Amino acid sequence: MNDPQNPGLAAMMQNALAERVYNFSPGPATLPAEVLQQAAQEMLSWRGTGMSVMEMSHRGKEFESIHGQALADLRELLQIPKNFRILFMQGGAIGQNAIVPLNLINRVDPKQPKADFVITGTWSVKSEKEARRYGEVNVAATSQDQKYSRIPDAASWNLSDDAAYVHLCTNETIVGVEFQQIPDIGQDQGRIVVADASSHILSRPIDWSRVQVVYGGAQKNIGPAGVTIVIVREDLLGAAHPLCPSAFNWRLVDENNSMYNTPPTYAIYVSGLVFQWLKRQGGVAAIEQRNIAKATALYSFLDQSDFYRNEIDPSCRSRMNVPFFLADESRNEAFLTQARANGLVQLKGHKSVGGMRASIYNAMPLEGVTALIEFMREFERTSA
Ligand SMILES: *Cc1c(COP(=O)(O)O)cnc(C)c1O
Repeated sequence: MNDPQNPGLAAMMQNALAERVYNFSPGPATLPAEVLQQAAQEMLSWRGTGMSVMEMSHRGKEFESIHGQALADLRELLQIPKNFRILFMQGGAIGQNAIVPLNLINRVDPKQPKADFVITGTWSVKSEKEARRYGEVNVAATSQDQKYSRIPDAASWNLSDDAAYVHLCTNETIVGVEFQQIPDIGQDQGRIVVADASSHILSRPIDWSRVQVVYGGAQKNIGPAGVTIVIVREDLLGAAHPLCPSAFNWRLVDENNSMYNTPPTYAIYVSGLVFQWLKRQGGVAAIEQRNIAKATALYSFLDQSDFYRNEIDPSCRSRMNVPFFLADESRNEAFLTQARANGLVQLKGHKSVGGMRASIYNAMPLEGVTALIEFMREFERTSA
């Protein structure tokens, strides 16, 4: 170590890069290596400031520029209309399960707060349970008796005329179903749709005529845990319950440009780097094509196999989260162990579903999915 500038740093970075695995975790999830490298390079001193983004005042002009760029990039990527506001909040999607009703369920009639829920899996069940604490909940449809293997046809939804909004989970991370589009349920007549899009936001375009509130934690398809993104049509900002905590009141958060309290600055910064990365990939339309290619490759492989299977109706299979089972479940541990030895990690299914699950978010390259398929083919061959 004769160089006090640490000649090993570049080499360390190379070694760390070589150690990286294909991480199929549902969340917190894999991030683009080049984003992590950039964050590493900027860690000690962000652009000549002599400080890390973590150490900056959220009210200073440096962080203001990071925040402003992240907002502008997100708006561009998702083509968010001018009359929608973007809020960077905390508390995760589970926090929003309470924050949404606290802000919205009184909208139609504060004396009879009410919301409709479409139940398509574990996450919408959670949202519905939490909302019950704040008003009447109507389960407009559920696919529970089909073990959430399909999304109920919108024509069969039993929607109420006096509900403040309809809640959907547009990608069910655990069971692996995804709305391929949000159905027309009278949004142009004033029906409000709220979507928990935690696990597929930015994986595909959003039709803003069909959804008026979109929320999601960043740790699945965007960036590090800690920032929750809420995109809300501006006319919906004023209906909060009087007991809604101020820091969770969408209108107050918006009026303070997401700085009502200290925002999760570092998580916003890394999310911003991911937005820039996405733009370099060609934006959401381009990443969507890659996501289709990845998901098609994996589902096609599962479907031609007798050794593996996916149980979701092909019309609503998630492009992001692919649960699958081995026909011989006694091979599960061996599968996971050998996968890990091949640099393919976090493939164990959620405990409520069992089996395996591959989460293949934006940052998972096609090569990762191909490597998984190759491994699965080989595991099948050697298990025969
Ligand atoms: C992960 C997830 C959540 C929970 O998010 P938290 O950030 O832990 O609150 C909620 N909804 C969906 C669809 C998810 O994938």
